[in-house]
Amino acid sequence: MTKEKSERKDKLFYQQKNGYDLIDKKELELVESYCKGYISYLNGAKTEREAVASGIRLAEERGFVPYKTGMELKPGSKVYFSNRSKALMLAVIGKKPLSEGSIIAAAHVDSPRLDLKQVPMYEDNEICYLKTHYYGGIKKYQWLTIPLELHGVVALKNGELVDICIGKDKSDPIFQITDLLPHLNKEQRKKSAEEFVPGETLNIVIGTIPDKEDVSDRVKLAVMDILNQKYGITEEDFLSAELTAVPAYEVREVGFDRSLIAGYGHDDRVCAYAELAAILETENPEKTAVCILADKEEIGSEGVSGMKSMAFERFMGDLCDTQGVKLTHCFANSLCISADVTNAFDPVYPDVSEKRNAAKINYGMSICKFTGHGGKSESNDASAEVVARLRRIFAENNVVWQMAELGKVDQGGGGTVAMYMAERDIDTIDAGVPVLSMHAPYETVSKFDCYMTYKGIKAVYDEK
Ligand code: MN
Ligand code: MN
Repeated sequence: MTKEKSERKDKLFYQQKNGYDLIDKKELELVESYCKGYISYLNGAKTEREAVASGIRLAEERGFVPYKTGMELKPGSKVYFSNRSKALMLAVIGKKPLSEGSIIAAAHVDSPRLDLKQVPMYEDNEICYLKTHYYGGIKKYQWLTIPLELHGVVALKNGELVDICIGKDKSDPIFQITDLLPHLNKEQRKKSAEEFVPGETLNIVIGTIPDKEDVSDRVKLAVMDILNQKYGITEEDFLSAELTAVPAYEVREVGFDRSLIAGYGHDDRVCAYAELAAILETENPEKTAVCILADKEEIGSEGVSGMKSMAFERFMGDLCDTQGVKLTHCFANSLCISADVTNAFDPVYPDVSEKRNAAKINYGMSICKFTGHGGKSESNDASAEVVARLRRIFAENNVVWQMAELGKVDQGGGGTVAMYMAERDIDTIDAGVPVLSMHAPYETVSKFDCYMTYKGIKAVYDEK
């Protein structure tokens, strides 16, 4: 190929480059230091409540204060609002009035997991178990035999809230769901992956030593005794508990080059942290910067703490009231980055993706113009104008990014909070980090893509 031809090609073709060919040593150091912060955040945020608590801690360190209705706000003010300790909204008030819109980044902090049932405890053949009801889209077989921790709260009748976190400390026990030995799984092997682990078999082993008293359910009695001594609870208290089993895995670097990060709950705490890091560094933005860490995305954004909840209107409406601005006018002029993960092209399973439009590891922040399934059903299809606006911002700020589509046409699909933001008359686009093994108990992302997603969100907050 002659030099001239290659120059024409460079000019006329859309050619993507591996991110590592695009950044210098100095920025590589920024990637590393950013990811150190993320790893520490993820290790401490295995439930939405923990993600919110960590978010508040980080925000307060950076001068954010709890928002109270009626408080005085001026450009540069930094506030946060905790929605029932399960979702978090933060804002940095902009120089321009809210009638000109805000810049919103919306991620979610709930992840697929195994919730305990409300009457979870039982004993069978002198083994004590907790029954679970899985939350979000999981491949049930992935949860067998792996080490589990128990996180959550028990709300007592007297109004007290007991925090539970067992398994995280190295001296704690862990919990486990058993699986059949291969020597005896002739029948199990014949079943499809969907059938061979029925939901009602996801029962967690929690004890085997019987009580000395000669009664039935002696093991259960002995375990309940331990729980009562340690946490002051009785079996009835499970009725008003939110306890969840999550993988007892620490976040680790992956590969000889340490380029990847494995952890539980990258979906979507990797984008939640990117937003948080970006808004915590935002000072005096042109337009008000808003960061949302929502709950319940994995089950359809339902509930008071999900993105469909009016809690968002309440917070944004209050901010608008302080400036005498109509909320509907603010929404109509706002831009929302629906920050959520997407599928990273996996060369071991190439058939589910269409490689010209799949997100690739180390190619940067992924923008999805649309998500959904089939003929773009249940998708927020962002406008060409919104995509162009991001192209401009990213080009001006050297953000490495890629356009992505989740899987081949008719292969399946997925959604995010994007459509619920767009329903509010807010221009919205999906963007986030590509993930390998999404929704597995231990997911994997690239450090480079994590950093670029943060850099991209920061650039949008800083738009002039
Ligand atoms: Mn997600
Ligand atoms: Mn998800």
